Amino acid sequence: MKKMWTAKCSQCGQRFRNYDRGAMLTRIQKHMWKFHSEWMRARMKAGRLAGGPGNPTVGMVLTAIAQGLPVALALLRVVKKPRWDRLSGAVSSFEPYMKPEHREIWQGLKVVKSMNIKRGS
Ligand SMILES: [Zn+2]
Repeated sequence: MKKMWTAKCSQCGQRFRNYDRGAMLTRIQKHMWKFHSEWMRARMKAGRLAGGPGNPTVGMVLTAIAQGLPVALALLRVVKKPRWDRLSGAVSSFEPYMKPEHREIWQGLKVVKSMNIKRGS
């Protein structure tokens, strides 16, 4: 049996379900930008101030993951490939210590990021 992935928008509570986790995360990302763009921008601005442009710290990423998928997506969306390669390696070293649900969010984030980087965004 295929696993059904589910998630909930932290801003409006809309639910997302998909058999493909990457596809679900992409839909959430689109939803967040369409309906909560002000909030997304505020999150990004907060992230930039804390760690420099597109340059969040490992601690910021771990905190964002604990806050949920949309928060983590908003934080990592602006991270470019060279920084992402180093950052994802560093965050992955914390995987054994993550709660299972946080590890799932992190795994999903990596899927979304690798798709975005392939598309060149
Ligand atoms: Zn929403």
